[in-house]
Amino acid sequence: MKLHNFSAGPCILPREVITKASEALLDFDNGLSLLEISHRSKPFVDVMDKASDLALELLGLEGKGYKALFLQGGASTQFLMVALNLLEKRAGYLNTGTWADKAIKEARMYGDVYEVGSSKKEHFNYIPKGYDIPSDYDYFHCTSNNTIFGTQMKSFPKTDIPMVCDMSSDIFSRSLDFSQFDLIYAGAQKNMGPAGTTLVVIKEDILGKVSRKIPSMMDYKIHIDKSSMFNTPPVFAVYTSMLTLEWLKNLGGIKAIEKVNEMKARIMYSEIDLNPLFKGYSAKEDRSNMNATFTLINDDLKETFETMCQEAGIRGLNGHRSVGGYRASMYNALSIDSVKALVEVMSELESQA
Ligand code: PMP
Repeated sequence: MKLHNFSAGPCILPREVITKASEALLDFDNGLSLLEISHRSKPFVDVMDKASDLALELLGLEGKGYKALFLQGGASTQFLMVALNLLEKRAGYLNTGTWADKAIKEARMYGDVYEVGSSKKEHFNYIPKGYDIPSDYDYFHCTSNNTIFGTQMKSFPKTDIPMVCDMSSDIFSRSLDFSQFDLIYAGAQKNMGPAGTTLVVIKEDILGKVSRKIPSMMDYKIHIDKSSMFNTPPVFAVYTSMLTLEWLKNLGGIKAIEKVNEMKARIMYSEIDLNPLFKGYSAKEDRSNMNATFTLINDDLKETFETMCQEAGIRGLNGHRSVGGYRASMYNALSIDSVKALVEVMSELESQA
C-alpha cells in the first residue's frame, strides 16, 4: 500500500533522494561508504561546496554578499547564535508561535528583547500585523512559518535594520525576495534533508558588530572562514540535503514547486472549509501552505476518522500536542495525490455521517 506521509518533521523526502543517499552509504567513493571517508577528502569537500552553492542559487542570493553554512545543533542552536552574533543592546522579535517564543527566551540572555507583536493571547492562531520596528534595534527576528499552529507570514515588514528569519518549515517552498533578509536559518528536516544539519544563510556585512567574545562554535565568522568545516560536519545530513537541493533545481526550482504547493494547499483548505465535519485552526488570511491545522467538530467521529486514515495509508496526521486535532504537513516532497487521498477520506466521512 502506498503510504501518505503528512508528518511535520522529520518528514517526507523525495524517494529518489532517499535511494541515492542509501546507495552512498554502501559506496560513495571507490568502495568506501559516505560514512567512512574523511570530511576533508575532495569528494566530500565537493559535496559541501555544491550544497552551499545550490542553496544560494535556489534562493537567488549568489553574488550578493551572502554565505551559506551547514551547521549542527538544529534551528534551536540558531536561537542563541543569532543573539550572540548580532545582539549588542536590543532586538525586536515577532512572537508568532512556540518556536519564536523559544528564540525570544534564548536571546533574552544576551540583551533586551522586545516583542514588537505577539499572538500569544490567541494561542498563536494568527500573524500580528501593523507593528512598528524601532530603527535603533540591532535586528528584527521573525518566523516565516509556524509549524505547530499552521500560520505563515504572507508579507514581511520593511525595515532598515537587519532582518533575521527562522524559515525551518517553509524554506525552498515559495518565491520570496530572499535578499530582504540578512540572516535566514532552517533546520534541514523539513524541506531539505534528514535532521542533523541546519542551513544558515548570512549576509556577511552584518557580522563583527558586537563587542562580546563569541565562543568559536557559536561564531558565524569562524564557520564562514572554515567553509562549514570548523569541526567535523554531519556528512550524511549535508549530502542528503545536497541531493534534495539538486532534485529541486531539476524540477525547476522554487517557482516550480511553489505552484504545486499552492495547489496542494488549495485542495486541502477547500475541503476543510466545505466539509461541515471539520474546522480550520488558524486565521484564513494567515494559513500556512506547509502545515494545515484543523479539528473535527464532533469528537465522537475521531476513532472512525483515524481508522479510515490508517486504512488509506495516511500517516503523521496528528496535531502537535499543544494544539491537538490534526495537522497535514504538505512539504515539497509530498505529492498532490497524497493530499487527494486525505481529502477523499474526509469527504467519505462526511457521506457516512
Ligand atoms: N523553528 C521552527 C519553525 C521549527 O518548526 C522547529 C522544529 N520543528 C524549530 C525551530 C526547532 O528546530 P530543531 O529541532 O532543528 O532545533
